[in-house]
Amino acid sequence: MEMKGDFMERFFKKLNTVVILTLIITLSALTGISAEANSTPGVSDVNAQELNAEDRLMQAMATTDIDYTAHVQNIGWQNSVQDGQLAGTTGMDLSLEALKIQLENDYNMNTGSIEYTLHCQNVGWTPVVSDGQVAGTTGSGLQAQAACINLSGQIAQTYDVYYRVHSAYYGWFDWAKNGEVAGTLGLDTKAEAIEIELVKKGSPAPGSTAKTYVDPSTLSNEGIISYTTFVNNGWMDVVNNGADSGTVGLNLPVLGLAVNTPNKEHDSSIEYKGYFSNVGWLDQTFRDGEQATCGGQPLEAVAIALKGLDDYSYDLYYQVSVQDVGWLGWASDGQIAGTNGGGKAIEAIHMLILPKGSPAPAPYGDSFKQLENPQFWYWPLNGYGPERITSGFGYRAEGIHDGIDIGVPQGTPIQACKSGTVIVAGWYYGYGICAVVVNDTGEKVYYAHMSAIGTTVGARVLQGQTIGFVGSTGNSTGPHLHLGVLINNNWTNPINFF
Ligand SMILES: [Zn+2]
Repeated sequence: MEMKGDFMERFFKKLNTVVILTLIITLSALTGISAEANSTPGVSDVNAQELNAEDRLMQAMATTDIDYTAHVQNIGWQNSVQDGQLAGTTGMDLSLEALKIQLENDYNMNTGSIEYTLHCQNVGWTPVVSDGQVAGTTGSGLQAQAACINLSGQIAQTYDVYYRVHSAYYGWFDWAKNGEVAGTLGLDTKAEAIEIELVKKGSPAPGSTAKTYVDPSTLSNEGIISYTTFVNNGWMDVVNNGADSGTVGLNLPVLGLAVNTPNKEHDSSIEYKGYFSNVGWLDQTFRDGEQATCGGQPLEAVAIALKGLDDYSYDLYYQVSVQDVGWLGWASDGQIAGTNGGGKAIEAIHMLILPKGSPAPAPYGDSFKQLENPQFWYWPLNGYGPERITSGFGYRAEGIHDGIDIGVPQGTPIQACKSGTVIVAGWYYGYGICAVVVNDTGEKVYYAHMSAIGTTVGARVLQGQTIGFVGSTGNSTGPHLHLGVLINNNWTNPINFF
């Protein structure tokens, strides 16, 4: 019913044009004034001036419109739209899944049809269909990624069909025409919306036609990134730009990560570091597909960066979803993505390489979250556990030992056990170079005998932040960290907190 109403409305619009043109013809005949003087501004054909009024009447009657309808993830079939309007959605993270396109050939002055296909996830190009039939898939949750549309028959002599696709992460591509590819191929990146317009041959395109699609297999200079995560007992299938690796909401920690840029040009590489539960940041920097794992420990945070010439051409973005926390904001180019302090694992990650200067994917920033877990004390020496304790807490012949001594190499970074405020940073009696931090939860923590201090009085430190380096200053016989915890002016055995 709606289609019929639409048709009638357009019929009357056309009828108005017909009436006006008929009047012009009549007036021309009566007065002898050339119809050229009343030339319709919209007609820009080279031969327009040569058309006589009758031809122009015929052309107006033969104007063809285009109707199309998108099938969208979680929504289903939308209402149909016309002539350059948006079908699908933008900014909702919903995939276009299928498409129907129809020509409205008033009076059948133009004969011919419209043919189209969608390139879909796991399927590739779906069968070419025409004139209102369904291209793509419905009911299987498969995202469409690219579109191809063409005209055939007499109408192809009169019109060009232009269309452009809005893709996740990329936004609007430029206008493709007459069977060109619009969207992305081979990137696991969903198409979200499409606009389609018929333009008379010889008339200008609706907008730029410079870049209609991305296909990493043909555009060697286009950024692409592949990655995989280790979940449960194995590595997941490698995915590309924008696709999730890992799981969400299944409480399955990511235990490893491997990242590569198979399409890179120049002398470039991708580098990444991992922060693992109970261990902290690994010293090792992983490159170009190396598997970053740590004896089955969950991954809590990552930092990933492009190195070499690609660093000048592209920006790298990545985003992680964390157990009980959800998706954090996007990080870029070496920033930390993940959490610290809560023992919460990364469950999923996705990444993107975009040309330098492209807008950052949203939400950008806040990619790292310091989890304020009052129960949780961070072990202050990454890579060295409690087995390194050389002297425990308690009374000795010479008096109380007011902390624990942890023997580790000179220069080992010391991380704050909890977030707090620094009240001592420097030489402090027999403690040598020492930092004292008042935790947000009230305890005073002494980090003593440092070789160098890494903070200042009054500074706020975050749990896990480096505040100094192991040494043997003050009353000490060898490199170690003396860790003391004072609660309500009572020395308390620090080991109780780990
Ligand atoms: Zn000591």
